Amino acid sequence: MEAVTTNGDYGIIEWFEYVAENAGLVQTETLRRILKENYGVEYLKKWLGEIKNIDEMEASALESLYTTLVPLASHADLEPYIQRIADGDPSPLLTQQPITTLSLSSGTTEGRQKYVPFTRHSSKTTLQIFRLAAAYRSRVYPIREGGRILEFIYSSKQFKTKGGLAAGTATTHYFASEEFKIKQEQTKSFTCSPEEVISSGDYKQSTYCHLLLGLFFSHQVEFIASTFAYSIVQAFRSFEEMWEEICNDIREGTLSPRITIPRIRKVVLDIISPNPCLAMRIEAKCEDLEGLDWFGLVPKLWPNAKYVYSIMTGSMQPYLKKLRHYAGYLPLVSADYGSTESWIGVNLDASFAPEDVTFAVIPTFSYFEFIPLYKQNQYFSSATDDFIEGDPIPLSQVKVGQQYEIVLTTFTGLYRCRLGDVVEVAAFYKGTPKLNFTCRRKLILTVNIDKNTEKDLQLVVEKGSQILSKKTRAELVDFTSHANVANQPGHYVIYWEIKGEVEERVLAECCNEMDVSFVDHGYVVSRKISAIGPLELCIVERGTFKKILDHFIGNGAAMSQFKTPRCTSNQGLLRILNVCTIKRVHSTAYC
Ligand code: AMP
Repeated sequence: MEAVTTNGDYGIIEWFEYVAENAGLVQTETLRRILKENYGVEYLKKWLGEIKNIDEMEASALESLYTTLVPLASHADLEPYIQRIADGDPSPLLTQQPITTLSLSSGTTEGRQKYVPFTRHSSKTTLQIFRLAAAYRSRVYPIREGGRILEFIYSSKQFKTKGGLAAGTATTHYFASEEFKIKQEQTKSFTCSPEEVISSGDYKQSTYCHLLLGLFFSHQVEFIASTFAYSIVQAFRSFEEMWEEICNDIREGTLSPRITIPRIRKVVLDIISPNPCLAMRIEAKCEDLEGLDWFGLVPKLWPNAKYVYSIMTGSMQPYLKKLRHYAGYLPLVSADYGSTESWIGVNLDASFAPEDVTFAVIPTFSYFEFIPLYKQNQYFSSATDDFIEGDPIPLSQVKVGQQYEIVLTTFTGLYRCRLGDVVEVAAFYKGTPKLNFTCRRKLILTVNIDKNTEKDLQLVVEKGSQILSKKTRAELVDFTSHANVANQPGHYVIYWEIKGEVEERVLAECCNEMDVSFVDHGYVVSRKISAIGPLELCIVERGTFKKILDHFIGNGAAMSQFKTPRCTSNQGLLRILNVCTIKRVHSTAYC
């Protein structure tokens, strides 16, 4: 087998360099293409009226007409149109081409899944960004042609809407598409698991089979991957408990009775055959690994793996520590930036640590606008927002060091739609900005004048868990929070699931540390005058966050796109958290 050279990759890299160099022009041309394709649809007609001769208009004139006449929108503004499409209205509402498929966003950040139109263009851009990222990656970490990827990927259930459209998550549509097969052929790397395993609809059974097949093909595995890093951590945590059963299946060529779906049983049993030597080798390694608390599991079990690849930024950062533990000396390569609405940017710097990764915007995928965001004076800001907004600007005018909210106009019928993500321009790659993902814009913790985002909470929890690591051998498995305003004064509750024993004294210290680590001025002032009560740290029993995952999956969320909600007021979730709370401590800081 040969290393993938840049020959096959050259075309796509050259293409990207060209569009990046000319990003400003490419963007206005992209907008023209979107409008040309969808001119006359009900939504656009409402704002643009009848424009004649789009083709003859100068692209920049069209751009300024569009951004003047079509207002910024939230998903809620477009929802009535998308709902009519879901209900079977055949008229051209958002796109001229009929929409036959709808994607569901993960809903784990907003609490509610949203429908977003999905077209062939969506699968094509997924293929394009995956090929592009693979080409840049292979410059730093070449892999062997024809090798395998151990991918922890999962399709969710697909269903039909009232109007008969296929609905499911974007990843589900992609895994079922022709493009997913083409990607494997073009990048010359093949997923260990067959389609039946990916789309089983039961993430626990799929995970078992991914691990079993990943080990069965262990010498061919070139890298380990998932959509979001959470799935890899989750899979290896399960492996710590199931490895003996998996080894047994490898030895005997059998399949554990925990796999109950007949079509998965058949397809997996057709692939594997008894391999006592391999099983013995893996068992010996697992016994060693148990003594090391599974440090370096990946390179030990997959000796030819070159790296671990997944989205590790944003809300995935809290899993980095555990991922590094499993990866040992292998590099972690952070994957690209996108959403159900559109892919946005590609990671061109495979060798960068996930903490330093930026995403170069791909200017052909959508028409991107950027709303400048300025931190505003604490006392004059609204209860729900933290920023003063400037006027939206095109990609060509963004400035390094400035924060923005992204606005999308897509080929799939979204027009000037706010994405709700805050990004910072870190640099430029040729003419296209490289974005740092900051956080979701929505505030998550707020009781009165205090304002904290997911990122603020993440930093606070990191501070608290540093005490845990310093003083104990225990490890933070996962966390979430809640702004409790049921009693006055309101206060924050942080829920931790911990692996290992921790004395109450240490927990109290962690709690105090977190309370003083919220640097938001509104919080500090409110705590000082007791307008916000002491922070409460609740320790939940082991397995609680798995129950939360199951709760979401049971309600139709997809494992591949799952993100633990970092703050919740969802009653179902709070019930689980409160029933599972085994210890509570209150901060004594600010006393
Ligand atoms: P969804 O479409 O619901 O599955 O989630 C899309 C959201 O996930 C985006 O709007 C971001 O908030 C987040 N996201 C996607 N890719 C990344 C990334 N590379 N880094 C950080 N957050 C990401």
